[in-house]
Amino acid sequence: MDLKNIGESSNVEDTRGTSGGGGGRVLFGGGLGATVLALIVYFLGGDPSQVLPQGDSSSGTASERGAPGQRADDGTAQFVKKVLATTETVWDQLFMEKYRQQYQKPVLRIFDDGVQTECGSASAASGPFYCPADRKVYIDLAFAEELKGRFNAPGDFALAYVVAHEVGHHVQNLLGISEKVQRMMQQGSQEDANALSVRLELQADFLAGIWAHYTQQMKGVIEPGDIQEALGAAAAVGDDNIQEMTQGSVHPESFTHGSSEQRMYWFKRGYQSGDIDQGDTFSGSL
Ligand SMILES: [Zn+2]
Repeated sequence: MDLKNIGESSNVEDTRGTSGGGGGRVLFGGGLGATVLALIVYFLGGDPSQVLPQGDSSSGTASERGAPGQRADDGTAQFVKKVLATTETVWDQLFMEKYRQQYQKPVLRIFDDGVQTECGSASAASGPFYCPADRKVYIDLAFAEELKGRFNAPGDFALAYVVAHEVGHHVQNLLGISEKVQRMMQQGSQEDANALSVRLELQADFLAGIWAHYTQQMKGVIEPGDIQEALGAAAAVGDDNIQEMTQGSVHPESFTHGSSEQRMYWFKRGYQSGDIDQGDTFSGSL
């Protein structure tokens, strides 16, 4: 992705290097509060149990990182701030054109040591997520390394896709889709709720594809190989891949984000069509 002519978004809270008031610190894969919070926090994929209800009292072990100056992840921070700026440009225009509405921009909170949100507190180990209650996208830049390493999805555009996916949840929130789905999820069985979650997540992937389409059209920032990187990341965070990685087996009835194939399909559909009307993931088969 070529962002040299793109400025950084100013809608950013960069709290790296502060303790951030993270509260509870959870080990990866802990099981507390998963069911309730899975409904109100939109993760990229994987295990939503990394977010705890507020008021968890487990003690923080965060090391102090008070030193000012350069940090190893400054380049990554700058990158995600610029990507956020491109999402603002795209959604500003699409909201005006399509809905005759002013797009209300989300805030991107970059944290590295646990964080308090209106949706609960998250540990440093949690993946990127969106909290509809405070309209913020949360990202721990260590995840950028995880994408390359653990998820084997390298490339800057893989990370850009992740940011665009979370912004996609913000768009769903602004359009009232999240709230509607939330209500439906609370009425049915766990399996019904999972199926609805998959549809919501695939739509966020579709919206990430829409962003890719228009950011290229408006700014020409996509380079050869970028779309492949996004598809690689979409596949990596598919439920089947994550279950295979973490449990060694695949259980489609417990999918909450969709399979690798589905995630790639919907991203691609948004990217190729550039047509928001093609993003109805709630009717028909996926
Ligand atoms: Zn998501």
